[in-house]
Amino acid sequence: MSTPPPLASGPEGPAALRPLLDTVLDALAAGTRARRGPLPAGGPEEVAARLALATGDILPATGDPDALRILVHALAAGAADPADPLCAAHLHCPPLAVATAADLAVSALNPSLDSWDQAPAAAALEARVTRTLARAAGLADALVTTGGTESNQLALLLARETHGAGVRLVCGANAHHSLPRAAWLLGLPEPVVVPAPSGTLDPAALDQALTTLSGPLLVAATAGTTDAGLIDPLPEIAALCAAHRTRLHIDAAYGGGLLFSDRHRDQLAGLEAADTVTLDLHKLGWQPVAAGLLALADPGEPAALHQSADYLNADDDTEAGLPDLLGRSLRTTRRPDILKIAVTLKTLGRTGLGALVDQVCARAREFAALIAAHPGFELYDRPAISTVLFRPTDATDAEVAAVRRTLLHEGRAVLGRARLDGRLWLKATLLNPRTGPDDLAQLLKLVEGTTTG
Ligand SMILES: *Cc1c(COP(=O)(O)O)cnc(C)c1O
Repeated sequence: MSTPPPLASGPEGPAALRPLLDTVLDALAAGTRARRGPLPAGGPEEVAARLALATGDILPATGDPDALRILVHALAAGAADPADPLCAAHLHCPPLAVATAADLAVSALNPSLDSWDQAPAAAALEARVTRTLARAAGLADALVTTGGTESNQLALLLARETHGAGVRLVCGANAHHSLPRAAWLLGLPEPVVVPAPSGTLDPAALDQALTTLSGPLLVAATAGTTDAGLIDPLPEIAALCAAHRTRLHIDAAYGGGLLFSDRHRDQLAGLEAADTVTLDLHKLGWQPVAAGLLALADPGEPAALHQSADYLNADDDTEAGLPDLLGRSLRTTRRPDILKIAVTLKTLGRTGLGALVDQVCARAREFAALIAAHPGFELYDRPAISTVLFRPTDATDAEVAAVRRTLLHEGRAVLGRARLDGRLWLKATLLNPRTGPDDLAQLLKLVEGTTTG
Protein backbone atom coordinates (compact mmCIF):
# COMPACT_ATOMS: atom_id res chain seq x y z
CA MET A 1 0.00 0.00 0.00
CA SER A 2 1.30 3.47 -0.83
CA THR A 3 1.72 6.14 1.88
CA PRO A 4 -1.27 8.46 2.34
CA PRO A 5 -0.87 12.02 0.99
CA PRO A 6 0.68 14.63 3.34
CA LEU A 7 -1.48 16.43 5.90
CA ALA A 8 -1.75 20.19 6.39
CA SER A 9 -1.23 20.34 10.16
CA GLY A 10 1.12 18.60 12.54
CA PRO A 11 4.90 18.97 12.59
CA GLU A 12 5.20 18.09 8.91
CA GLY A 13 2.27 20.21 7.74
CA PRO A 14 4.14 23.43 6.92
CA ALA A 15 6.83 21.62 4.92
CA ALA A 16 4.17 19.74 2.98
CA LEU A 17 2.23 22.92 2.29
CA ARG A 18 5.13 25.09 1.15
CA PRO A 19 5.63 23.59 -2.35
CA LEU A 20 1.87 23.27 -2.82
CA LEU A 21 1.48 26.95 -2.00
CA ASP A 22 4.08 27.77 -4.63
CA THR A 23 1.96 25.81 -7.09
CA VAL A 24 -1.19 27.66 -6.02
CA LEU A 25 0.45 31.08 -6.22
CA ASP A 26 2.00 30.39 -9.63
CA ALA A 27 -1.31 29.09 -10.96
CA LEU A 28 -3.16 32.14 -9.58
CA ALA A 29 -0.69 34.42 -11.33
CA ALA A 30 -0.83 32.53 -14.63
CA GLY A 31 -4.65 32.21 -14.55
CA THR A 32 -5.07 35.91 -13.81
CA ARG A 33 -2.74 36.79 -16.73
CA ALA A 34 -4.66 34.46 -19.03
CA ARG A 35 -7.96 36.16 -18.14
CA ARG A 36 -6.74 39.64 -19.14
CA GLY A 37 -9.53 41.61 -17.49
CA PRO A 38 -11.97 41.81 -14.60
CA LEU A 39 -13.86 38.68 -15.73
CA PRO A 40 -13.54 36.06 -18.48
CA ALA A 41 -14.80 37.03 -21.93
CA GLY A 42 -17.44 35.07 -23.80
CA GLY A 43 -20.36 34.67 -21.40
CA PRO A 44 -21.58 31.59 -19.51
CA GLU A 45 -21.40 29.01 -22.32
CA GLU A 46 -17.87 29.83 -23.39
CA VAL A 47 -16.68 29.98 -19.79
CA ALA A 48 -18.24 26.60 -19.00
CA ALA A 49 -16.80 25.06 -22.18
CA ARG A 50 -13.28 26.37 -21.43
CA LEU A 51 -13.54 25.13 -17.86
CA ALA A 52 -14.66 21.66 -18.97
CA LEU A 53 -11.82 21.48 -21.50
CA ALA A 54 -9.17 22.61 -19.01
CA THR A 55 -10.27 20.43 -16.12
CA GLY A 56 -11.39 17.22 -17.86
CA ASP A 57 -12.60 14.28 -15.78
CA ILE A 58 -12.89 15.46 -12.17
CA LEU A 59 -13.14 11.94 -10.74
CA PRO A 60 -10.73 9.90 -12.85
CA ALA A 61 -9.96 6.26 -12.02
CA THR A 62 -6.40 7.19 -11.11
CA GLY A 63 -5.48 10.58 -9.71
CA ASP A 64 -3.69 13.45 -11.47
CA PRO A 65 -0.80 15.02 -9.50
CA ASP A 66 -1.20 18.20 -11.58
CA ALA A 67 -4.81 18.69 -10.45
CA LEU A 68 -4.04 21.53 -8.02
CA ARG A 69 -2.33 23.61 -10.70
CA ILE A 70 -4.94 22.83 -13.36
CA LEU A 71 -7.96 23.65 -11.23
CA VAL A 72 -6.54 26.77 -9.58
CA HIS A 73 -5.50 28.07 -13.00
CA ALA A 74 -8.97 27.38 -14.39
CA LEU A 75 -10.65 29.11 -11.46
CA ALA A 76 -8.44 32.21 -11.74
CA ALA A 77 -8.74 32.36 -15.53
CA GLY A 78 -12.51 32.30 -15.16
CA ALA A 79 -12.86 34.52 -12.09
CA ALA A 80 -14.66 37.81 -11.63
CA ASP A 81 -11.78 39.41 -9.76
CA PRO A 82 -12.81 42.04 -7.21
CA ALA A 83 -9.20 43.27 -7.10
CA ASP A 84 -9.62 44.52 -10.68
CA PRO A 85 -10.73 48.18 -10.49
CA LEU A 86 -13.27 47.52 -13.26
CA CYS A 87 -14.99 44.80 -11.20
CA ALA A 88 -17.43 46.91 -9.22
CA ALA A 89 -20.92 45.41 -9.41
CA HIS A 90 -21.60 43.98 -6.00
CA LEU A 91 -20.74 44.17 -2.33
CA HIS A 92 -18.01 41.73 -3.32
CA CYS A 93 -14.77 42.97 -1.82
CA PRO A 94 -11.18 42.20 -2.74
CA PRO A 95 -9.86 40.39 0.35
CA LEU A 96 -6.73 41.73 2.01
CA ALA A 97 -3.70 39.51 1.50
CA VAL A 98 -3.09 39.35 5.25
CA ALA A 99 -6.66 38.14 5.89
CA THR A 100 -6.37 35.46 3.22
CA ALA A 101 -3.03 34.32 4.67
CA ALA A 102 -4.65 34.06 8.10
CA ASP A 103 -7.44 31.98 6.59
CA LEU A 104 -4.85 29.50 5.37
CA ALA A 105 -3.87 28.85 8.97
CA VAL A 106 -7.52 28.09 9.75
CA SER A 107 -7.67 25.63 6.85
CA ALA A 108 -4.47 23.97 8.05
CA LEU A 109 -5.40 23.64 11.72
CA ASN A 110 -9.11 23.06 11.05
CA PRO A 111 -10.43 24.00 14.49
CA SER A 112 -14.17 23.53 14.87
CA LEU A 113 -16.11 25.82 17.16
CA ASP A 114 -18.80 23.37 18.25
CA SER A 115 -16.81 22.23 21.28
CA TRP A 116 -13.87 23.54 23.27
CA ASP A 117 -11.85 20.33 22.78
CA GLN A 118 -11.79 20.98 19.01
CA ALA A 119 -10.80 24.63 19.22
CA PRO A 120 -9.33 25.75 22.55
CA ALA A 121 -7.53 28.93 21.41
CA ALA A 122 -9.97 29.67 18.59
CA ALA A 123 -12.87 29.63 21.07
CA ALA A 124 -11.05 32.03 23.39
CA LEU A 125 -10.12 34.29 20.47
CA GLU A 126 -13.70 34.36 19.21
CA ALA A 127 -15.01 35.34 22.63
CA ARG A 128 -12.57 38.27 22.81
CA VAL A 129 -12.96 39.56 19.26
CA THR A 130 -16.76 39.37 19.16
CA ARG A 131 -16.97 41.49 22.32
CA THR A 132 -14.49 44.00 20.90
CA LEU A 133 -16.43 44.37 17.66
CA ALA A 134 -19.80 44.52 19.39
CA ARG A 135 -18.53 47.31 21.66
CA ALA A 136 -17.29 49.24 18.65
CA ALA A 137 -20.92 49.21 17.50
CA GLY A 138 -22.18 50.23 20.97
CA LEU A 139 -23.56 46.76 21.77
CA ALA A 140 -22.52 44.03 24.21
CA ASP A 141 -21.57 40.88 22.33
CA ALA A 142 -21.80 39.30 18.89
CA LEU A 143 -22.37 35.91 17.30
CA VAL A 144 -20.33 34.91 14.27
CA THR A 145 -22.32 34.06 11.13
CA THR A 146 -21.73 33.25 7.48
CA GLY A 147 -22.91 36.73 6.47
CA GLY A 148 -25.78 39.16 6.43
CA THR A 149 -28.38 36.57 5.49
CA GLU A 150 -27.65 34.33 8.48
CA SER A 151 -27.32 37.37 10.77
CA ASN A 152 -30.75 38.63 9.71
CA GLN A 153 -32.24 35.16 10.24
CA LEU A 154 -30.74 34.97 13.73
CA ALA A 155 -32.03 38.46 14.51
CA LEU A 156 -35.58 37.38 13.64
CA LEU A 157 -35.17 34.12 15.54
CA LEU A 158 -34.02 35.95 18.70
CA ALA A 159 -36.95 38.36 18.32
CA ARG A 160 -39.32 35.39 18.05
CA GLU A 161 -37.80 33.68 21.09
CA THR A 162 -38.10 36.93 23.08
CA HIS A 163 -41.54 38.13 21.92
CA GLY A 164 -43.25 34.97 20.71
CA ALA A 165 -44.13 33.48 17.33
CA GLY A 166 -46.61 36.27 16.63
CA VAL A 167 -43.85 38.87 16.28
CA ARG A 168 -44.31 40.72 13.00
CA LEU A 169 -41.48 42.15 10.94
CA VAL A 170 -41.90 45.78 9.90
CA CYS A 171 -39.31 46.80 7.35
CA GLY A 172 -38.80 49.27 4.55
CA ALA A 173 -39.36 48.50 0.89
CA ASN A 174 -35.59 49.07 0.67
CA ALA A 175 -34.78 46.20 3.10
CA HIS A 176 -32.67 43.25 2.00
CA HIS A 177 -34.65 40.29 0.68
CA SER A 178 -33.16 38.05 3.38
CA LEU A 179 -35.36 39.77 6.02
CA PRO A 180 -38.81 38.86 4.63
CA ARG A 181 -37.32 35.51 3.65
CA ALA A 182 -36.27 34.88 7.26
CA ALA A 183 -39.82 35.76 8.39
CA TRP A 184 -41.11 33.16 5.94
CA LEU A 185 -38.54 30.59 7.07
CA LEU A 186 -39.40 31.11 10.75
CA GLY A 187 -43.14 30.97 10.16
CA LEU A 188 -43.71 34.55 11.35
CA PRO A 189 -46.72 36.62 10.27
CA GLU A 190 -46.59 38.27 6.83
CA PRO A 191 -44.19 41.26 7.12
CA VAL A 192 -45.44 44.81 6.86
CA VAL A 193 -43.49 46.71 4.23
CA VAL A 194 -43.24 50.45 4.82
CA PRO A 195 -42.67 52.67 1.76
CA ALA A 196 -39.17 53.96 1.10
CA PRO A 197 -39.89 56.43 -1.70
CA SER A 198 -36.50 58.14 -1.66
CA GLY A 199 -34.58 54.91 -1.11
CA THR A 200 -34.69 55.14 2.70
CA LEU A 201 -37.38 54.18 5.17
CA ASP A 202 -39.87 57.02 5.67
CA PRO A 203 -40.16 57.72 9.44
CA ALA A 204 -43.67 59.23 9.13
CA ALA A 205 -44.89 56.07 7.39
CA LEU A 206 -43.14 53.95 10.02
CA ASP A 207 -44.76 55.95 12.83
CA GLN A 208 -48.15 55.39 11.25
CA ALA A 209 -47.52 51.67 10.88
CA LEU A 210 -46.39 51.36 14.50
CA THR A 211 -49.45 53.31 15.65
CA THR A 212 -51.94 51.16 13.71
CA LEU A 213 -50.45 47.70 14.10
CA SER A 214 -51.11 45.60 17.17
CA GLY A 215 -49.19 42.69 18.62
CA PRO A 216 -45.42 42.35 19.05
CA LEU A 217 -43.38 43.98 16.29
CA LEU A 218 -39.79 43.96 15.11
CA VAL A 219 -38.68 47.01 13.15
CA ALA A 220 -35.78 46.40 10.77
CA ALA A 221 -33.87 49.40 9.44
CA THR A 222 -31.00 49.37 6.97
CA ALA A 223 -27.63 51.10 7.31
CA GLY A 224 -26.36 50.87 3.76
CA THR A 225 -28.90 49.55 1.29
CA THR A 226 -27.65 46.94 -1.14
CA ASP A 227 -28.92 48.85 -4.17
CA ALA A 228 -27.85 52.40 -3.40
CA GLY A 229 -25.78 52.35 -0.20
CA LEU A 230 -28.30 54.62 1.51
CA ILE A 231 -28.69 54.80 5.28
CA ASP A 232 -32.13 54.92 6.86
CA PRO A 233 -32.64 57.81 9.35
CA LEU A 234 -31.46 55.70 12.28
CA PRO A 235 -31.86 58.23 15.16
CA GLU A 236 -35.46 58.97 14.14
CA ILE A 237 -36.26 55.27 13.72
CA ALA A 238 -34.65 54.46 17.08
CA ALA A 239 -36.71 57.21 18.75
CA LEU A 240 -39.93 55.84 17.20
CA CYS A 241 -39.08 52.32 18.39
CA ALA A 242 -38.43 53.64 21.89
CA ALA A 243 -41.72 55.60 21.87
CA HIS A 244 -43.69 52.56 20.65
CA ARG A 245 -41.67 50.12 22.81
CA THR A 246 -40.76 48.14 19.73
CA ARG A 247 -37.74 45.95 19.18
CA LEU A 248 -35.23 47.30 16.63
CA HIS A 249 -32.90 45.40 14.31
CA ILE A 250 -30.47 47.31 12.10
CA ASP A 251 -29.08 45.60 9.04
CA ALA A 252 -25.65 47.23 8.72
CA ALA A 253 -24.23 44.50 6.49
CA TYR A 254 -22.81 47.18 4.21
CA GLY A 255 -22.67 50.36 6.31
CA GLY A 256 -21.24 48.69 9.43
CA GLY A 257 -17.73 49.21 8.07
CA LEU A 258 -18.15 52.97 8.58
CA LEU A 259 -17.64 52.32 12.30
CA PHE A 260 -13.90 52.18 11.65
CA SER A 261 -13.78 55.66 10.11
CA ASP A 262 -13.53 58.84 12.17
CA ARG A 263 -14.80 60.77 9.17
CA HIS A 264 -17.88 58.62 8.43
CA ARG A 265 -18.84 57.01 11.76
CA ASP A 266 -21.38 59.75 12.52
CA GLN A 267 -23.60 58.40 9.77
CA LEU A 268 -24.24 55.38 12.01
CA ALA A 269 -25.50 57.39 15.00
CA GLY A 270 -28.45 55.45 16.40
CA LEU A 271 -26.87 52.04 15.82
CA GLU A 272 -26.25 51.65 19.54
CA ALA A 273 -30.01 51.85 20.19
CA ALA A 274 -30.67 48.61 18.30
CA ASP A 275 -31.39 45.27 19.97
CA THR A 276 -29.49 43.50 17.21
CA VAL A 277 -27.17 44.68 14.42
CA THR A 278 -26.06 42.76 11.34
CA LEU A 279 -22.40 43.33 10.41
CA ASP A 280 -20.70 41.77 7.42
CA LEU A 281 -16.93 42.10 7.14
CA HIS A 282 -16.81 40.39 3.75
CA LYS A 283 -18.22 43.67 2.45
CA LEU A 284 -16.72 46.91 3.84
CA GLY A 285 -14.15 44.89 5.86
CA TRP A 286 -12.04 43.28 3.12
CA GLN A 287 -12.37 39.71 4.39
CA PRO A 288 -12.56 36.55 2.33
CA VAL A 289 -16.07 35.07 2.60
CA ALA A 290 -17.43 34.27 5.19
CA ALA A 291 -17.19 36.98 7.83
CA GLY A 292 -20.61 37.87 9.26
CA LEU A 293 -21.64 38.92 12.76
CA LEU A 294 -24.83 39.58 14.63
CA ALA A 295 -24.17 42.09 17.41
CA LEU A 296 -26.50 41.96 20.42
CA ALA A 297 -27.50 44.49 23.05
CA ASP A 298 -28.45 41.70 25.47
CA PRO A 299 -25.66 39.14 25.68
CA GLY A 300 -28.06 36.76 27.43
CA GLU A 301 -30.37 36.35 24.43
CA PRO A 302 -28.40 33.55 22.74
CA ALA A 303 -29.51 31.36 25.68
CA ALA A 304 -32.52 30.73 23.42
CA LEU A 305 -30.19 28.85 21.07
CA HIS A 306 -29.05 26.45 23.80
CA GLN A 307 -28.78 22.77 22.85
CA SER A 308 -27.52 19.79 24.80
CA ALA A 309 -25.49 17.15 23.03
CA ASP A 310 -23.60 14.90 25.39
CA TYR A 311 -20.63 14.51 23.04
CA LEU A 312 -20.16 18.28 22.74
CA ASN A 313 -21.36 19.98 25.92
CA ALA A 314 -22.24 17.46 28.63
CA ASP A 315 -23.52 19.19 31.79
CA ASP A 316 -20.69 17.80 33.91
CA ASP A 317 -18.09 19.06 31.40
CA THR A 318 -19.70 22.51 31.47
CA GLU A 319 -19.82 22.46 35.28
CA ALA A 320 -16.15 21.48 35.32
CA GLY A 321 -15.38 24.63 33.33
CA LEU A 322 -15.26 23.54 29.67
CA PRO A 323 -16.91 26.35 27.68
CA ASP A 324 -20.26 25.44 26.09
CA LEU A 325 -20.05 26.68 22.49
CA LEU A 326 -23.17 25.11 20.96
CA GLY A 327 -25.41 28.02 21.89
CA ARG A 328 -23.35 30.53 19.90
CA SER A 329 -24.62 29.36 16.53
CA LEU A 330 -27.27 27.29 14.77
CA ARG A 331 -24.46 25.48 13.01
CA THR A 332 -22.58 22.57 14.58
CA THR A 333 -19.17 22.19 12.91
CA ARG A 334 -18.01 25.78 12.48
CA ARG A 335 -14.84 27.27 11.06
CA PRO A 336 -13.08 30.04 13.07
CA ASP A 337 -13.69 32.91 10.65
CA ILE A 338 -12.71 35.09 13.57
CA LEU A 339 -8.96 34.52 13.00
CA LYS A 340 -8.75 36.43 9.71
CA ILE A 341 -10.91 39.17 11.22
CA ALA A 342 -8.68 39.43 14.30
CA VAL A 343 -5.52 39.47 12.18
CA THR A 344 -6.95 42.25 10.02
CA LEU A 345 -8.08 44.38 12.98
CA LYS A 346 -4.74 44.05 14.71
CA THR A 347 -2.59 44.49 11.59
CA LEU A 348 -4.34 47.62 10.36
CA GLY A 349 -5.72 49.03 13.59
CA ARG A 350 -8.72 51.34 13.66
CA THR A 351 -6.77 54.00 11.75
CA GLY A 352 -5.67 51.65 9.00
CA LEU A 353 -9.15 50.25 8.49
CA GLY A 354 -10.68 53.70 8.70
CA ALA A 355 -8.30 54.87 5.97
CA LEU A 356 -9.52 52.08 3.66
CA VAL A 357 -13.13 53.08 4.31
CA ASP A 358 -12.32 56.76 3.68
CA GLN A 359 -10.51 55.82 0.49
CA VAL A 360 -13.43 53.97 -1.13
CA CYS A 361 -15.91 56.64 0.00
CA ALA A 362 -13.70 59.35 -1.52
CA ARG A 363 -13.42 57.41 -4.79
CA ALA A 364 -17.21 57.13 -4.94
CA ARG A 365 -17.57 60.87 -4.53
CA GLU A 366 -15.03 61.52 -7.28
CA PHE A 367 -16.75 59.06 -9.58
CA ALA A 368 -20.11 60.73 -8.88
CA ALA A 369 -18.59 64.13 -9.67
CA LEU A 370 -17.17 62.78 -12.94
CA ILE A 371 -20.61 61.51 -13.93
CA ALA A 372 -22.41 64.68 -12.87
CA ALA A 373 -20.04 66.72 -15.06
CA HIS A 374 -20.55 64.47 -18.10
CA PRO A 375 -23.39 65.47 -20.44
CA GLY A 376 -23.81 61.85 -21.60
CA PHE A 377 -24.69 60.56 -18.15
CA GLU A 378 -27.20 61.10 -15.40
CA LEU A 379 -26.24 60.62 -11.72
CA TYR A 380 -28.83 59.15 -9.33
CA ASP A 381 -27.58 60.90 -6.19
CA ARG A 382 -24.48 61.80 -4.18
CA PRO A 383 -23.17 58.57 -2.66
CA ALA A 384 -23.75 58.06 1.07
CA ILE A 385 -21.16 55.27 1.27
CA SER A 386 -19.40 53.94 -1.84
CA THR A 387 -22.20 53.07 -4.29
CA VAL A 388 -22.71 55.22 -7.38
CA LEU A 389 -25.81 54.83 -9.57
CA PHE A 390 -25.83 56.32 -13.03
CA ARG A 391 -27.30 55.84 -16.48
CA PRO A 392 -26.66 57.10 -19.99
CA THR A 393 -28.83 60.19 -20.56
CA ASP A 394 -32.07 59.41 -22.40
CA ALA A 395 -31.39 55.65 -22.56
CA THR A 396 -34.26 53.21 -22.15
CA ASP A 397 -34.17 50.62 -19.36
CA ALA A 398 -33.55 47.93 -21.96
CA GLU A 399 -30.53 49.87 -23.27
CA VAL A 400 -29.15 50.27 -19.74
CA ALA A 401 -29.50 46.53 -19.14
CA ALA A 402 -27.85 45.80 -22.49
CA VAL A 403 -24.82 47.99 -21.68
CA ARG A 404 -24.21 45.96 -18.53
CA ARG A 405 -24.56 42.61 -20.31
CA THR A 406 -22.32 43.68 -23.21
CA LEU A 407 -19.54 44.66 -20.80
CA LEU A 408 -19.95 41.34 -18.96
CA HIS A 409 -19.94 39.35 -22.17
CA GLU A 410 -16.82 41.06 -23.44
CA GLY A 411 -15.14 40.59 -20.06
CA ARG A 412 -14.35 44.29 -19.89
CA ALA A 413 -16.19 45.54 -16.79
CA VAL A 414 -18.49 44.21 -14.08
CA LEU A 415 -21.19 46.72 -13.20
CA GLY A 416 -24.36 46.04 -11.25
CA ARG A 417 -27.92 47.18 -11.80
CA ALA A 418 -30.55 48.68 -9.53
CA ARG A 419 -34.15 49.76 -10.08
CA LEU A 420 -34.89 53.02 -8.27
CA ASP A 421 -37.29 55.89 -9.02
CA GLY A 422 -39.02 53.46 -11.40
CA ARG A 423 -35.97 53.39 -13.69
CA LEU A 424 -33.05 51.05 -14.20
CA TRP A 425 -29.59 52.32 -13.21
CA LEU A 426 -26.07 51.05 -13.63
CA LYS A 427 -24.47 50.45 -10.26
CA ALA A 428 -20.80 50.80 -9.33
CA THR A 429 -20.06 49.52 -5.82
CA LEU A 430 -16.56 50.75 -5.01
CA LEU A 431 -14.87 48.50 -2.45
CA ASN A 432 -11.36 48.40 -3.84
CA PRO A 433 -9.11 50.76 -1.86
CA ARG A 434 -6.43 50.52 -4.58
CA THR A 435 -8.73 51.82 -7.30
CA GLY A 436 -7.56 55.24 -8.50
CA PRO A 437 -9.24 58.17 -10.24
CA ASP A 438 -7.78 57.06 -13.60
CA ASP A 439 -9.47 53.66 -13.25
CA LEU A 440 -12.81 55.35 -12.79
CA ALA A 441 -12.30 57.60 -15.80
CA GLN A 442 -11.53 54.45 -17.79
CA LEU A 443 -14.67 52.76 -16.48
CA LEU A 444 -16.82 55.68 -17.59
CA LYS A 445 -15.16 55.71 -21.03
CA LEU A 446 -15.90 51.99 -21.40
CA VAL A 447 -19.57 52.54 -20.59
CA GLU A 448 -19.67 55.49 -22.95
CA GLY A 449 -18.13 53.44 -25.76
CA THR A 450 -20.59 50.63 -25.18
CA THR A 451 -23.55 53.00 -25.11
CA THR A 452 -22.77 54.78 -28.36
CA GLY A 453 -21.18 51.82 -30.12
C1 LIG B 1 -25.27 41.77 1.41
C2 LIG B 1 -26.39 42.12 2.29
C3 LIG B 1 -27.04 41.14 3.05
C4 LIG B 1 -26.73 39.68 2.88
O1 LIG B 1 -25.45 39.37 3.28
P1 LIG B 1 -24.73 38.01 2.78
O2 LIG B 1 -23.40 38.11 3.40
O3 LIG B 1 -24.71 38.09 1.29
O4 LIG B 1 -25.54 36.89 3.29
C5 LIG B 1 -28.00 41.54 3.94
N1 LIG B 1 -28.32 42.84 4.05
C6 LIG B 1 -27.75 43.81 3.32
C7 LIG B 1 -28.17 45.24 3.51
C8 LIG B 1 -26.77 43.48 2.40
O5 LIG B 1 -26.20 44.43 1.65
